[in-house]
Amino acid sequence: MVIAVDGPAASGKGTIARALAKHYGLPHLDTGLLYRAVAANVSRLELDHSIEADAVAACDFDDSLLDDDALRSDEVGKLASVVSAHPLVRASLFHRQRRFAQQPGGAVLDGRDIGTVIAPDATAKLFIRATPTIRAKRRHAELRDRGSTVSMDKVLTDIRARDFRDSTRSAAPLVPANDAALLDTSFLSIEASVQRAIALVEDRRRIKANSGPS
Ligand code: C5P
Repeated sequence: MVIAVDGPAASGKGTIARALAKHYGLPHLDTGLLYRAVAANVSRLELDHSIEADAVAACDFDDSLLDDDALRSDEVGKLASVVSAHPLVRASLFHRQRRFAQQPGGAVLDGRDIGTVIAPDATAKLFIRATPTIRAKRRHAELRDRGSTVSMDKVLTDIRARDFRDSTRSAAPLVPANDAALLDTSFLSIEASVQRAIALVEDRRRIKANSGPS
């Protein structure tokens, strides 16, 4: 079974994807980390994130970079959304994600274009949403716990800017797949969001099973 989990920053998609992977005993790939690794590598090579050829040159990163905690910063997230708008960067990371999605036994992947581009035939596609203010509050609390003193206003402005860039780019913009189930986590606890996500996956599974082999 392949489960595609998409959605904007701080919507809860990562937490939900990890919980689904645990629940179903499937391997999980956080595809945002790949774009974050490219962005961090561009910075390390002292190249320009906004130049496609520079970003492509940074796609060949060492896998050990994926374990670097620095990738999780908001600054790297912002730069990841700049490099991810380059079609050749997306093309360069495509096969790696597709291979992960097609491994025997299935997988859970989370990102922005999993249901639309990477795994269009996924068994279940979830699109996770929450209001920008609630997402900013979550991200602000997370950053504060890590010792940051960034203001709530700045976090909200960054979230809106990232949403805009991710949804308006021409290459694989952030949009729900036509057959995605929408899950709004704005007023749900983590536990309730995960239970709802499992119920949606079970629904999709039943529908696919009843419609014959796919
Ligand atoms: O999910 P995360 O915040 O780690 O993603 C960082 C950035 O990487 C996103 O803002 C988005 O621009 C990009 N991304 C993407 N496609 C994916 C995953 C992430 O374009 N499948």
